[in-house]
Amino acid sequence: MSGPFDLTGRVAAVTGANTGIGQAIALALAAAGADVACVGRTPADETAAGVRALGRKATIVPADLTTIEPVGRVVDETLAALGGLDILVNNAGIIRRADAVDFSEADWDAVIDTNLKSVFFLCQAAGRHMLANGGGKIINIASMLTFQGGIRVPSYTASKSGIGGLTKLLANEWAARGVNVNAIAPGYIATNNTAALQADVARNRAIVERIPAGSWGDPGDLGGAAVFLASRAADYVHGHILAVDGGWLAR
Ligand code: NAP
Repeated sequence: MSGPFDLTGRVAAVTGANTGIGQAIALALAAAGADVACVGRTPADETAAGVRALGRKATIVPADLTTIEPVGRVVDETLAALGGLDILVNNAGIIRRADAVDFSEADWDAVIDTNLKSVFFLCQAAGRHMLANGGGKIINIASMLTFQGGIRVPSYTASKSGIGGLTKLLANEWAARGVNVNAIAPGYIATNNTAALQADVARNRAIVERIPAGSWGDPGDLGGAAVFLASRAADYVHGHILAVDGGWLAR
């Protein structure tokens, strides 16, 4: 008998799977047994190879999620290549930094469109399939700025706060219909996204001093949370935002 965290026979689509948190989650889902569609604008060859090395099937779905144009195709190509879509991880995201008084419309639109609008319409496209198919798991990648204000990142904070609300709304609509919608809120994780912060000696020291665990997280630290929320073990977990933050929010 398979265990409660076993994902054998499940198909996952992970956006932004070529690097960072998306890559780590794709590999963790594969290690738990899932086949994985690696979705993104940079081809995720390394991730797909890693999934196959774990004995699972992988496909690469090219998609620039700056707009919602590719969302239907992401679902269709995943179904065509892997025969299902049981798990969606909305991970792709960007950040733009500037003082609020100077923040441009372009930086507002780019972040909201990628981090929030495309996420909603991908949830909708995948959700239609999952609802018709009797169930599924959607995991959105939130942030500490789903809970806090941050500074000099107004569109990022708005997008990630929006992800928190959207996750709960979708859970309210779909929980009784077999689709679990939850989120993971990473703390400070060492990826390309945070390279500038890591390189800033003063900011880096201030950040590490405030993290109870005493260090940045590694993308692999998100894997267990993703497997849990994607698995049968989380069947009664709906609309939850699971912080994986080294204790940051507890401080
Ligand atoms: P990353 O290394 O910069 O990776 C971001 C991923 O999103 C890349 O695969 C990127 O593809 C993809 N992406 C960005 N814009 C896209 C678009 N228009 N279409 C398709 N894919 C796109 O960052 P990360 O740290 O792993 O971040 C992953 C997620 O975690 C993001 O949602 C981020 O906000 C969130 N997060 C990160 C942290 C952290 O500390 N690192 C903390 C909280 C939340 P390309 O390589 O082609 O750009």
